[in-house]
Amino acid sequence: MSRISVISGDITSLDVDVIVNAANAQLQGGGGVDGAIHHAAGPELLEQCAAIYRQNGACPTGQAVIMGAGDIPVKAIIHAVGPVWQGGDCDEAGLLADAYHNSLQLAASHGYQRIAFPAISTGIYGYPKPAAAQIAMSTVCDFLRNHSLPHQVVFCCYDQETHDLYQHLLMNCD
Ligand code: ADP
Repeated sequence: MSRISVISGDITSLDVDVIVNAANAQLQGGGGVDGAIHHAAGPELLEQCAAIYRQNGACPTGQAVIMGAGDIPVKAIIHAVGPVWQGGDCDEAGLLADAYHNSLQLAASHGYQRIAFPAISTGIYGYPKPAAAQIAMSTVCDFLRNHSLPHQVVFCCYDQETHDLYQHLLMNCD
C-alpha cells in the first residue's frame, strides 16, 4: 500500500509529524528506542512523562499517550506500551495490535498526517520479530483502509531482519 513505507534508520531523525515510542508502563526512560528518544528529546520529555504518570498512573499495556517532543523536530511523541513476550498465551498478539491501533487513533484524532513506528516489543520485551511484524503490518493496513488519517505510516526498522520482514509483508498489503 503506497501509504506505508519501510525504512532503515534511527526514528529520532525522521521527517514526520509524530513518532511512536516503545515505552514502558511507568513512562520512565529505558533502553532501546525509548533511550534513544529520551536522549534526543532532552530532559523536557522526561518531565512531561513524569507529570502524566503522576496524574494518570501507569499506562496499561496496549494503550498509548501523546505528548510534546522536546528537542526532536516533530510535532509530538506517542508513547505506546507493548506487551512483554511471555510465550504467546497472555494475549500478547491482541495487546500488540492494540498498541498500534491506539497510536494510530491518537495520531488521527490530532490531525497528524505522517507517523513513524519502531518495531514495538521486539527488543527488550522479546516479542518474536516475524510475528510482531505481521501484527504491525496487518493492524496498520486495516486502520488505513478505514481512515484517511494518518496519511502516511513509516515503519522505521533498526536492524536488517526487521527491515526484510516488513518489506516482504508490505508486498502483500493492498
Ligand atoms: P521494547 O521494550 O518494546 O522491546 P526496544 O526499544 O527494546 O522496545 O526495541 C523495539 C525495537 O526498536 C527493536 O527492533 C529495536 O532494535 C528498535 N530500536 C532501537 N533503537 C531504535 C532507534 N533509535 N530507532 C528505531 N528503532 C530502534
